[in-house]
Amino acid sequence: MSIEQKITSLRDELREHNYKYYVLDEPSISDYEFDMKLKELQKLEVEHPEFHDPTSPSLRVGGMVTKNFETVPHEHRMYSLDNSYSKEDLEDWEKRIQRILGDVEVEFTCELKYDGASISLTYEDGQLVKAVTRGDGFQGDDVTNNIKTIKSVPLQLKGDYPPKFDIRGEIILTLEGFAKMNAERVEAGEDPYMNPRNTASGSLKLQDSALVAQRPLECLLYSIAGDNLGVVSQFEVLEKARSWGFKVPTVAKLCKSTEEVMQFADYWEVNRHDLPYETDGVVVKVNSIQHQDELGYTAKSPRWAMAYKFKAEQAITKLNKITYQVGRTGAITPVANLEPVLLAGTTVKRASLHNADQIAKLDVREGDTVFVEKGGEIIPKIVGVDFAKRDTDSKPTQYITHCPECETELIRKEGEAQHFCPNDIGCPPQITGRIQHFISRKAMDIEGLGGETVELLFKEGLIGNYADLYTLTKEQIMPLERMAEKSAENLVNGVQASKAIPFERVLFALGIRYVGETVAKKLAKAFKNIDALMAASQEQLVAVDEIGERIAQSVIKFFSEPVNQDIIDRLKSYGLQFSLSEEQLENQTELLKGQTFVVSGVFESISRNELKKMIEDNGGKVASSVSSKTSFLVAGDKMGPSKRTKAENLGVPIISEQEFLQKLEV
Ligand code: AMP
Ligand code: ZN
Repeated sequence: MSIEQKITSLRDELREHNYKYYVLDEPSISDYEFDMKLKELQKLEVEHPEFHDPTSPSLRVGGMVTKNFETVPHEHRMYSLDNSYSKEDLEDWEKRIQRILGDVEVEFTCELKYDGASISLTYEDGQLVKAVTRGDGFQGDDVTNNIKTIKSVPLQLKGDYPPKFDIRGEIILTLEGFAKMNAERVEAGEDPYMNPRNTASGSLKLQDSALVAQRPLECLLYSIAGDNLGVVSQFEVLEKARSWGFKVPTVAKLCKSTEEVMQFADYWEVNRHDLPYETDGVVVKVNSIQHQDELGYTAKSPRWAMAYKFKAEQAITKLNKITYQVGRTGAITPVANLEPVLLAGTTVKRASLHNADQIAKLDVREGDTVFVEKGGEIIPKIVGVDFAKRDTDSKPTQYITHCPECETELIRKEGEAQHFCPNDIGCPPQITGRIQHFISRKAMDIEGLGGETVELLFKEGLIGNYADLYTLTKEQIMPLERMAEKSAENLVNGVQASKAIPFERVLFALGIRYVGETVAKKLAKAFKNIDALMAASQEQLVAVDEIGERIAQSVIKFFSEPVNQDIIDRLKSYGLQFSLSEEQLENQTELLKGQTFVVSGVFESISRNELKKMIEDNGGKVASSVSSKTSFLVAGDKMGPSKRTKAENLGVPIISEQEFLQKLEV
């Protein structure tokens, strides 16, 4: 098989697996096998840029940065939908339709109304060429780079598609994906997102598409626009789009009568909570495209479609008490403790009140009768107060001014919604929260020790920070409640074993605000050991790829605190890993610092990827195209002629493989 054939066959294979996994939800190979194939493709593509394909599945990982999203016109306008809130409204609409169309049988396609951000995708000759947000319906923002990273959006269509058309859909986050994203944010000490819908729509405007690629976004499609599409009904549109490789939910139903439409709406009004994503209603569309053309549009929306909005599921109950939780980072969350009430199939006892502003906005007070709703949030929320039922002597809620756990005065920073307890050193839930983070699976992964035991050890005065874990003895632990000799031994062994955990995870475990797993890796790689990192200035920190002001400040603050310095000294003395290992360090120098390389062509003694890695390991930067900022163009065999011309025109030195390797010899 030639290299080109190999690349093509890998692309086809990966496309098919993407389709099975993300569109059909029926994967046929393991994630690991998939990753291996993707890596192989990426390697071949780097070595053979001449076989570039804008629809290659390797582009899914993103990396393109869009500084300003260009506003572009929609070739076909994106309309809104009229809303109806009752069965009667819906019936009236159907009668109006019937009157306009006369004595013909009218069928309807019923779909769910997906709650996300609308998008219009343009395909030409089966390839995705453009993705534009709805904007004002006439023009929107070009977010193509970001949309390309969403795995359920086909970059290359299959089957019998029209040569050119737009397809419309909704970008959504599944509830599960949303919960996972939030769990990761909380772990990194960041505020969780409020709801899936806003998060999905915010994702489309991220500048770095690599970040979009990490979010579990999906694209659900529901209509096409264009000329000579060769379809006669909405239901056929859905089926055809599905056959071209799009994700079109199968819950759509062709209904022959008004009664069937009602049944569909009734069914989903009750069963919508079983869906993996949020829906706020049903969209009913006249099925025949010919009928649709006869009915036409009003100024804003099609006459042939109507949204029927579900009633938000609400419960009414009494708010007994407002309590305040203190998180690991000191963030205060007000919680409404409710008289237990049944809501959407579960008993609800607590609801989130978010922050002080939210409490003030709703004017919610203890003793109030409140309306509780379940949205995309995992914890239900209070949406309003029944003021008629309020006691006459009720007083406005006074937000706490001091920490409920340690009595320190709370602070609220400019622009932040949350109050914080600044006593990070002495506030019990912050102390135990930090230790719990330290021992967690992705951090030090200490076996034999769980969150509850941490609380117990703290309460008993055996530990006051995570460094104390390393001096715990079996004899100290055994007298504790429910601690058999065996479990005490496991705990001590687990703590000892964690000394082998690599530097980047130790760094993550320290629990520096905004330093999540990825940032910890970047910092470890850039500074190589804790002393260099602790000595780093703001400028040195932000010079690291993806480290911004906010993270830099947080790092500096953490290391400037004497308590933290003490703890780190102690951890060092116990033998934890505070620098990259020999192996990680090997071949890493600063020899190429400040230099930018472009690599092109095929090399003799090493592969292109190895060459690029050598550049990065030695402090250099790799760029993909020649510009005035390029220091050297490393030229291999069969280098692209345009790169050479450009380098020559700009006066960028062109060096050979040997000349490059000589730079690294000392
Ligand atoms: P609205 O934003 O309330 O005017 O509702 C119109 C929007 O509903 C459209 O722009 C679409 O983004 C969205 N929508 C969600 N699901 C569907 C669907 N199945 N058919 C048509 N529009 C839908
Ligand atoms: Zn406190």
